[in-house]
Amino acid sequence: MSFDWEDDWPVATDNVFPNSYTNKYNTQFKEKRFNNYKNRRIEENGAPGDCEKMWIPTKFVGRVIGRGGSKISDLKYESGANIHVTKDTDENKTLLKIFGSAESIIKATQLINEIAQDRQRTYTRNQPGSSQFSLEPVVTSSESVPTTKPEKAKFFDMAECLRQEKEYWSNFPEIKKVFYEEHPDISALTEKDVKEIRLEKNNIVVDRVLSTENAAAIPKPVLTFEQAFFKYPEILSELKKANFEKPTPIQCQAWPILLSGEDMIGIAQTGSGKTLAFLLPAFIHIEGQLTPKEDRKGPAVLVVAPTRELALQIDKEIKKYNYHGINSCCIYGGGDRKQQVAELKRGVDIVIATPGRMNDLFDSGDLYIENITYLILDEADRMLDMGFEAQIRRVLYGIRPNRQTVMTSATWPSGVRRLAVSYTKDPVQVYVGSLDLTATHSVAQIIHILHEDDKEKIFFDFIANMGPDDKVIVFCSTKAKTDYLSVECIMKRLPSASIHSNKEQCDREQAIADIMDGTAKILIATDVASRGLDIDDVTHVINYDFPKNIEEYVHRVGRTGRAGKTGESISYFTRENWANASELIKILEEAEQYVPKELYDMSERFASRQDRRSQNPKRGFRNEPSW
Ligand code: AMP
Repeated sequence: MSFDWEDDWPVATDNVFPNSYTNKYNTQFKEKRFNNYKNRRIEENGAPGDCEKMWIPTKFVGRVIGRGGSKISDLKYESGANIHVTKDTDENKTLLKIFGSAESIIKATQLINEIAQDRQRTYTRNQPGSSQFSLEPVVTSSESVPTTKPEKAKFFDMAECLRQEKEYWSNFPEIKKVFYEEHPDISALTEKDVKEIRLEKNNIVVDRVLSTENAAAIPKPVLTFEQAFFKYPEILSELKKANFEKPTPIQCQAWPILLSGEDMIGIAQTGSGKTLAFLLPAFIHIEGQLTPKEDRKGPAVLVVAPTRELALQIDKEIKKYNYHGINSCCIYGGGDRKQQVAELKRGVDIVIATPGRMNDLFDSGDLYIENITYLILDEADRMLDMGFEAQIRRVLYGIRPNRQTVMTSATWPSGVRRLAVSYTKDPVQVYVGSLDLTATHSVAQIIHILHEDDKEKIFFDFIANMGPDDKVIVFCSTKAKTDYLSVECIMKRLPSASIHSNKEQCDREQAIADIMDGTAKILIATDVASRGLDIDDVTHVINYDFPKNIEEYVHRVGRTGRAGKTGESISYFTRENWANASELIKILEEAEQYVPKELYDMSERFASRQDRRSQNPKRGFRNEPSW
């Protein structure tokens, strides 16, 4: 099934209540899938009764119930069925009874299957060389609808599955992961030196976060390109061409780790140089594999990115470097599918993919993943916020377990941690600086406290006073507002472009090209453009609508003041935004910016309202802030 998640994404509000929107859209998708499935199943097998029995491996019972019964409550809520875990067990199986309407029973069965598949799959794989493997569900699944009436309960043996998996992958050539030789200057550094360097480099913190056992030393950071790549002169000459002065903090620490073959979690933001941090070791990894490129089918490196813009940007970054003819292609929803398939067929070393299209081309057999030995999940937190977890997990099951894995994320919430537990092996976490602090330091942050109706005038006054070298990104909260402002700009014959998720892909790419080359001086955007985009020379960011969370504010502000330049951000802050006042004050104070008195007032009023509410939750709030 092809489904362009990115196209259906509610950009205007996905940062407001990411989870509820995620759930809403997941639910819509699941409903579509479920209805198809239900109709097929009823056609083929007849409608089930109002109570079904389902045997599941006892070891999954805990997973179905969840901590404190949380999972089973979710399952009941989502399916509408009542699920009862009986005490009836048979060898290693436990009986579940599912009550409810035919639809709810099917849905519950399907959801329970998904939980089991999430944890385990059976390895009735085709022969090596085929791009597909079949998942054998516990009972039934939407992906593999049975043609005959399904058995009530199939039991699968975990140990046997693991044995089969091991045997399967043993047919594949060995992977080489270690390419690092420590430079003598680095070997000479003492523990104390290393500590000081990490502190100086934006306070790098390294840790084997998921392991209590492995106390192996974490490679020391490097200070120069030569120290990292003295064994790879072609890489050094490419870096020279790029004219970079020195490695960024994340690069200083990530290169020794990644060239040593370790898995890594980089907690760093866009603009930190994280792409090159994982990319240069990827080049060396591809070139250094024991099986020659010609004898390998499919790409060796897969980069999964949350948005098409970020994916395209990574692809662009890769194409800047020429290392042993390594090539890449970008597969993303909204792009020309045929062309992407043709590129994959021609053969590429690196694939950069958004989750929807990745799944689609994986399902169609066009994306061959079994020779991927270096995997990057870029902006993992963003991918989870956007509800891509299931799609990522599906494809990742088919990638060699002994690959090297890199995850990047701006934050370290429990979802990202869970993903890391599943898909990395004893990773080294590299945390660079703080989310709040680095991005905003080179930017003058101005806050206008105003009423909604005043925004337009103040905005066009600003535009009228723009200098010839100014370039501005204007962030709006909704697609409709973006369109409105864009039309106003066009009517005023201003050199503007606009971007949001309802625009055609070619229009989005054109908008970015226009702002990049200066054809447009004003880019009006929803938050789809706030992360990952690396547009040179943006002198101003205008938060026409203040973002709904402070992380997004930091990301937006970070679109200017890049690469050592200074920038200015102007935020229109209305009474509706008062819940963000205190967080905003912290960021402004930390970056030594002017904080308007009204902002302090709003923050205090909001805090006292919260206090009153917590003391008397039933009482409505009447005293709206006035200023
Ligand atoms: P990223 O954080 O990967 O989005 O990178 C942001 C920008 O920094 C990109 O345009 C890179 O080309 C650039 N960049 C990467 N490494 C360096 C470096 N060592 N020095 C200066 N710029 C860099």
